Amino acid sequence: MFGWLKKHQRREILQTPFPAAWREILAEMVTHYSFLNVDEKSHLEQMVQVFIAEKRFEGCNELEITDEIRVVIAAEACILLVGLPHDLYRELMTILVYPSTVVTPPPQVGVFTQSPLLGQQRFAISGQAFKRGPIILIWDAVQRGARHPESGHNVVYHEFAHFLDMRDGVANGTPELHSREQYRIWAQVFSEEFLALRHDAARGKKTFLDPYGAKNEAEFFAVATEYFFDKPVKMQKTHQALYDVLAGFYRQDTAAREQRYRQKCHRK
Ligand SMILES: [Zn+2]
Repeated sequence: MFGWLKKHQRREILQTPFPAAWREILAEMVTHYSFLNVDEKSHLEQMVQVFIAEKRFEGCNELEITDEIRVVIAAEACILLVGLPHDLYRELMTILVYPSTVVTPPPQVGVFTQSPLLGQQRFAISGQAFKRGPIILIWDAVQRGARHPESGHNVVYHEFAHFLDMRDGVANGTPELHSREQYRIWAQVFSEEFLALRHDAARGKKTFLDPYGAKNEAEFFAVATEYFFDKPVKMQKTHQALYDVLAGFYRQDTAAREQRYRQKCHRK
């Protein structure tokens, strides 16, 4: 836990009411926000306020950082933490945001001088996470993910899942879990699901999870996280064991949440 200074600072941050314009951005851009109940919404809004106040957002390649960029990224990052301790991203200071999908980091850009991205290679990425930060996100891809949860792709969930995974030292597809029993079930379920995806992907079979998750265990966890928040109902139906393990880690029942929301809409 952090000390009294941080607690005091956060109390100060939360003295300001959540801006109405930010709430509009959440309602319009962040699909999962609509699924949350009243308490979860206010919890998420508080996390968003603190996240935005504490982290630095840097626009790269002349991208100007707007409230929309800050709020969408902060909200999706914090959705992962709705059932977890709030301060799991404390080592993360900076989020670098690029405008479009293909990035070739120019060597003269200061922010890259200490980054592992330095080099002559050209990169085509939609995001990247480093153990103690920064997290790099491509705004184009973030917007696509926010608007189209049905695609199962969300680069913010993906990169922040990597960040959670790396907190215990290595990116190995297992974040810090809550109990020994959870580690045991995790290893069993994730191994089976990972090998099945690998098997199907190698044979060109259509798979529920994006075959990119077959690359390694870390990517599998990041991809599974995207689906857990984007397509929970379908995940629960088709990959129930995997869904249950993720629900146990994130301490959220995303499928029940989405179903509640859809029933409510249906009744209206
Ligand atoms: Zn990844």
